[in-house]
Amino acid sequence: MYDFIIVGGGIIGMSVAMQLQKKLPDSKIAVLEKESDVAKHQTGHNSGVIHAGVYYTPGSLKAKFCFEGNKATKDFCDENGIKYDICGKMLVATNDVEMERMKALWDRTEANGLERTWLDSNELRAREPNIIGVGGIFFPSSGIVSYTEVTKAMMRRFMESKGEVFLNTQVVGLTEHTNGIVVKTNKGQFEGQYLITCGGLQSDRLVSMLDIAPDFVICPFRGEYYQLSPQHNNIVKHLIYPIPDPSVPFLGVHLTRMIDGSVTVGPNAVLAFKREGYKKTDISLPYIIEMLKHKGIRKVIKDNFKTGLEELKNSLFKDGYLKLVQKYCPSLTKVDLNPYPAGVRAQAVSNDGKLIEDFLFVNTNRAIFVCNAPSPAATSAIPIGAHILEKVDSMVNKKAEITNL
Ligand SMILES: Cc1cc2nc3c(=O)[nH]c(=O)nc-3n(C[C@H](O)[C@H](O)[C@H](O)COP(=O)(O)OP(=O)(O)OC[C@H]3O[C@@H](n4cnc5c(N)ncnc54)[C@H](O)[C@@H]3O)c2cc1C
Repeated sequence: MYDFIIVGGGIIGMSVAMQLQKKLPDSKIAVLEKESDVAKHQTGHNSGVIHAGVYYTPGSLKAKFCFEGNKATKDFCDENGIKYDICGKMLVATNDVEMERMKALWDRTEANGLERTWLDSNELRAREPNIIGVGGIFFPSSGIVSYTEVTKAMMRRFMESKGEVFLNTQVVGLTEHTNGIVVKTNKGQFEGQYLITCGGLQSDRLVSMLDIAPDFVICPFRGEYYQLSPQHNNIVKHLIYPIPDPSVPFLGVHLTRMIDGSVTVGPNAVLAFKREGYKKTDISLPYIIEMLKHKGIRKVIKDNFKTGLEELKNSLFKDGYLKLVQKYCPSLTKVDLNPYPAGVRAQAVSNDGKLIEDFLFVNTNRAIFVCNAPSPAATSAIPIGAHILEKVDSMVNKKAEITNL
């Protein structure tokens, strides 16, 4: 019998595992991961940005955990010898509408306590000669890292303090009893006192396994990237971001310096036709039917029909994609964009058709489910883990109170 079973070997699952084992060194803790290694899904397919916390509603979990996570991630990398680069980030406005939106972001970043500098077009050009815009904001605390490396270091720390990781172990059923949780997997049955699931793209399916009808569904959005040809590795000094459309929760196609020295362009946000569908050709008819049956997803498609078609067009035709980046980096041409692996975002949609913005958790007596952990959850993974430990505390204390009655 385990004290805690954690499902999911992404950065959230490994952060929880590492912190829980450190806090309760005598506990028996297992992580169950269906893939052959950790960080095989969102954690291993992202932009690798240590976000500063620019966009998030003041007071939200995202704003708080991203701000704390920016520092915690750097500290963790220092303690574990992981390479990172605090190259800073530049938001770039290219027209009057974006300028207005950028002013709103300036106010928001003040409320979120971020250090930043306003740049006029000349100052922008002086800092980034290959970028054009009518103005910008510079955020010095943004950086880059490999979240796969961070997650692997968390796993090492967890296993050094006697945590157990079971790979190739897919959870297929959950039963909660008064005395514990039974976890059915393709490798047999595990029993635990408590369960924490951090299932990313499968998070709603894990909730359903306990016979709870989740009031959200995961909607997968593919984020496609290109990599610039190596002669452009120094085209920018910072991370270059457009001003996002406030009606959608994605940041827009950005130029990202990667920790391996290359530069990527992306990601866009295209509705994926399969949960873990990384390629354009990954299409599952049963999944499409399941998706279209969901009232919330139908509403999201209806409300964002025009944007969705535009994203799809730019995904299919490189010219459209190129235009998005040429808006602020006009020297790039089609031949500069080389294929690069896509990522798939797990975005929770409420049953009434809203894209859920903030991180979301659901509890039962013996289980905590991480239901919505989209970007900036990689940056925020350490504070999210600490938050889950607080939830574990109250879950365990509540049980102890009931037992003592
Ligand atoms: C394109 C893209 C760009 C992004 N860019 C950034 C960025 O620059 N900065 C940032 O902070 N964030 C970014 N994010 C967000 C960030 O990557 C995610 O929020 C974070 O990785 C979520 O971690 P996770 O552990 O919740 O999910 P995941 O990494 O997806 O891990 C979930 C794990 O659960 C496992 N699992 C699921 N179901 C089961 C089951 N039944 N049994 C066993 N195992 C199971 C999966 O195999 C998987 O390994 C980006 C995301 C994407 C997709």
